[in-house]
Amino acid sequence: MTSPVVVAGAGGAGLAAALSAAQCGVDTVVLEANLHYRHACTTVMSTGLVPGAGTPAQQAANVDDSPEDYAADILAKTGETSDPVTTATLTARSAELVEWLGRSLRRALELATDARYPGHRRHRLHAPADRSGRTLHGALNRAVIAHDVEVLMPYRLVGVAERTDALRLTVATPDGARHEMDAGALVLATGGFAQDPELVRRHLPQLEAATYFGGDHSDGQALRLAEELGLDCAYLDSYTGHASYAHNHGVLVTWNAVMHGGVIVNTAGRRFADESIGYSGFADALAGQEASRGFLLLDQRIADACKTFPEFTQLRDAGGIRWADDPVALARAIGVPETVLGATLEEAGIAATGAHPDPHGRTDWEAPLAWPVGVIPISPILGMSQGGLVTDEQARVRRDGRAVPRLYAAGGAATGTSGHGGEGYLAGNGLLLALGLGYIAGRDAARVVSHYGHRAP
Ligand SMILES: Cc1cc2nc3c(=O)[nH]c(=O)nc-3n(C[C@H](O)[C@H](O)[C@H](O)COP(=O)(O)OP(=O)(O)OC[C@H]3O[C@@H](n4cnc5c(N)ncnc54)[C@H](O)[C@@H]3O)c2cc1C
Repeated sequence: MTSPVVVAGAGGAGLAAALSAAQCGVDTVVLEANLHYRHACTTVMSTGLVPGAGTPAQQAANVDDSPEDYAADILAKTGETSDPVTTATLTARSAELVEWLGRSLRRALELATDARYPGHRRHRLHAPADRSGRTLHGALNRAVIAHDVEVLMPYRLVGVAERTDALRLTVATPDGARHEMDAGALVLATGGFAQDPELVRRHLPQLEAATYFGGDHSDGQALRLAEELGLDCAYLDSYTGHASYAHNHGVLVTWNAVMHGGVIVNTAGRRFADESIGYSGFADALAGQEASRGFLLLDQRIADACKTFPEFTQLRDAGGIRWADDPVALARAIGVPETVLGATLEEAGIAATGAHPDPHGRTDWEAPLAWPVGVIPISPILGMSQGGLVTDEQARVRRDGRAVPRLYAAGGAATGTSGHGGEGYLAGNGLLLALGLGYIAGRDAARVVSHYGHRAP
């Protein structure tokens, strides 16, 4: 079997790559390992927030933004350590991506102006009206099918061999059989490695005990292929975590609860870090606390402000927030001495009014907590690795710094823009890497196979 463009993985990255290649009029095939990918890939678990800097929606909302401002925010959040090529490429093309998605999916993404995300100085996250990655992925899937792209499943890419005129792919099916096919170009969009315990132990040891909360089959296949082919990989210590996983109910609590003034304490009733560093960086801080457990404290004003997030409302309606009228009841609810918790809340309250600096350095408070105070037991999760194959401006992978013809990577398979560790992750970085790099990869793969066919480029 021979196909001009082959995409491995039908998450956000793979579908964006397949759609952009097919829109160029090139025959495209997607290999997907999971029959249930439409319900189980990481993209469907996301809140569908896609960053775009300089979009018409921003202009209409009088948001003055530019790719340079966005890149500056990424550099500030990562301490200037994010991959320079990927950062420059994706921020420069983010508005084009949002516009392309709106046009291709026949539904404009809305600019989210009702929430603030740590590190973004401007409102620049765009999402479907229901803030659902499932909606976004479903629309991409329909667009791909409408362009006659075949999604072969369950087909797992397990091998790639380079020929002068094509790539020879090995694909495994559940019956144990192996099949070979040739591809004019291949986009590796098989997700990250956070579901693979051995790779997590090796690259993200501090999160070894954290609950994995990403999609299925994020088991590092692209990394294994990269090792076999000697491809460049980087930032393997980079990840997206989330500190506010309400483990009793299996729900991720929106970090807006914190940005609106929520406070996090450990099982001793003490704050231990600046919550406003963001949900990903704070996951690391919480992982270092006793039993990796803590409590998110919020009030009625904050709960009302989070009503637009469906999971938050579900958690509240399921009794996932326990309310206490005073410090004694709150201390009893979380099992800590009232004196310790009382002192913690008093100190946080004073810092929130600006009367005294916060000992943990937090400056971003909306208001002090007001009684009654609600409590949600939380623990950290590992959502996604953010390191992987190094790519160039066209999303081509590299070997010894040089682009490898016909071979591309996007999404969790590729190196992201989050620098090292978890603190550099800005909301939207994940889908930008998936959809943005996928979009770029698909177009370039189509260009290469149209121009060179099966000759060496
Ligand atoms: C709870 C949560 C919320 C998030 N919210 C946001 C958000 O709002 N905004 C944002 O930017 N990011 C968000 N992210 C991150 C974002 O969802 C991911 O970065 C992005 O979806 C990754 O897309 P992907 O296509 O690389 O991976 P996936 O969506 O996981 O797709 C990979 C696909 O490849 C398939 N596959 C794996 N191996 C093989 C193989 N060998 N052969 C064939 N197929 C294979 C898998 O089955 C899967 O279908 C969130 C993540 C989580 C966990």
